[in-house]
Amino acid sequence: ATLAPALGLTALQRGEQWPAASIAGQAHYPAHIPLPLVSPIDCAGHGELLPAGPAETELALATAQQAFTQWRLVPAPQRGELVRRIGDRVRTHKHELAALITLEAGKIISEAEGEVQEWIDICDFAVGLSRQLCGLTMASERAQHRLQEQWHPLGVVGVISAFNFPVAVWAWNAMLALVCGNSVVWKPSEKTPLCALAATRLVQDVVAGFDAAPAGLLGLLQGGTEAGRQLAADRRVALLSATGSVRMGRAVAQTVAARLGRSLLELGGNNAAIVTPSADLDLALRGIVFGAAGTCGQRCTTLRRLIVHESVADALLARLQAAYASLRIGDPRLPDTLIGPLIDHAALQQMQLALTAAEAQGGTVRQGGGGITQGVPNTGAYVAPALVSMPAQTAIVHEETFAPILYILRYRDLDEAIAMQNAVSQGLSSAIFSNDVREVEQFIGPAGSDCGLANVNAGTSGAEIGGAFGGEKDTGGGRESGSDAWRAYMRRATNTINYGSTLPLAQGVKF
Ligand code: NAD
Repeated sequence: ATLAPALGLTALQRGEQWPAASIAGQAHYPAHIPLPLVSPIDCAGHGELLPAGPAETELALATAQQAFTQWRLVPAPQRGELVRRIGDRVRTHKHELAALITLEAGKIISEAEGEVQEWIDICDFAVGLSRQLCGLTMASERAQHRLQEQWHPLGVVGVISAFNFPVAVWAWNAMLALVCGNSVVWKPSEKTPLCALAATRLVQDVVAGFDAAPAGLLGLLQGGTEAGRQLAADRRVALLSATGSVRMGRAVAQTVAARLGRSLLELGGNNAAIVTPSADLDLALRGIVFGAAGTCGQRCTTLRRLIVHESVADALLARLQAAYASLRIGDPRLPDTLIGPLIDHAALQQMQLALTAAEAQGGTVRQGGGGITQGVPNTGAYVAPALVSMPAQTAIVHEETFAPILYILRYRDLDEAIAMQNAVSQGLSSAIFSNDVREVEQFIGPAGSDCGLANVNAGTSGAEIGGAFGGEKDTGGGRESGSDAWRAYMRRATNTINYGSTLPLAQGVKF
């Protein structure tokens, strides 16, 4: 109730979509089944969500398509000015938005604020980009000819996002899409619709005050799997950017491919860190604990496998156990809490099943793993992060269980460790802790880590927005955020310009 006015939410409307005019009456919704909204903090209900159906999807896409035809003609630096103003507005609402992320996703305050900071950072990055959407000029083989490429706006960008980054993933996509001249339709996770509504309200105010920006530039479609399917299937979506599980990515990629559309996939990870004999164990310890237990194991980049040289394994495990015992687990709204709840009790059940499977496959739970009910809002799904020694990389270790389980494996030589790391089907994030330049170069070289992110003396999670973010293999191959990720949001046109008075043909063809 205190958050809502600060974010411009006069009421938490049932299933509000954008454009709002479409739902002034609830007439579109009679057949839709409401989804309950609960906070992972205490499982208390705070409303319900009416998912979008075909009528809302149609309206959102038609509006976005119309907005695109206008927005693509606005010069890119002016588009950047809109994003600059969005960034300014987000700065003034950082704490309120972070509180909403804590409420819906259960993140501790500093991580929730970090997520909003990612939105602010990507705004700054996108503003700079708006003057650097550069193509190349190539040497033509023909006299009085010029060969160049241009990058043009692409169309409507559909964004499907996961619960664990309820704002940042959309922001990465939407801020780049905007400077690239596109409109956006967002289908957030059905577990975090209020974050999406608040973020959309914030940008809508800015769009409304910016003359060159058409009203339907940033649309919002609430709902679950079905709403996502509708977005993926629609030919008007020029790029579908989907973040979530591998299962979701497989379904969406096939739908988009069937209409020969473009998709950008950011799917699950099963991230590993290798600790070599030369590692600085103090530094490694911090990186491992934050990576494995932080966000209650619910980041795509969460550290799930620790591959430790046998000479340092016992010492490291003892220090990890001590560090895990000191973690403050509980209500994420309290300033001292380091580990909040899992998103729901289904996630807790998945964690228990994984631990049972690990034990059946020869593993030993060294620390944690149980549910916690004392000293926490006792209706939430709170757990003690688990450390599990495994004799080998068994079937359960190949799976991404979205909970704080760290499997610990031992190795003898680095080739074996790298092979173990690369043996899983996912390829998102990886790390090596080593002070040996040969080991480091082998790890980041062409026969080293096969992941999209390969870090040295830094953990697997907590990427900066300046680099291209994403992973290989089952993680989907997409890249978002920094570097040249903007290219995915534009189409390339190659121009051959003849400024002479004859028409020589390429390759010397005579005709
Ligand atoms: P999820 O796959 O259950 O849901 C993600 C989104 O996809 C939601 O909006 C959901 O409604 C939608 N969806 C689900 N099935 C769909 C379908 N068949 N068609 C269309 N849309 C569908 O994932 P989650 O539980 O919200 O998030 C956790 C997962 O997301 C983990 O696997 C995690 O690794 C991954 N993730 C990846 C990244 C990354 O950048 N690689 C970032 C965050 C999360």
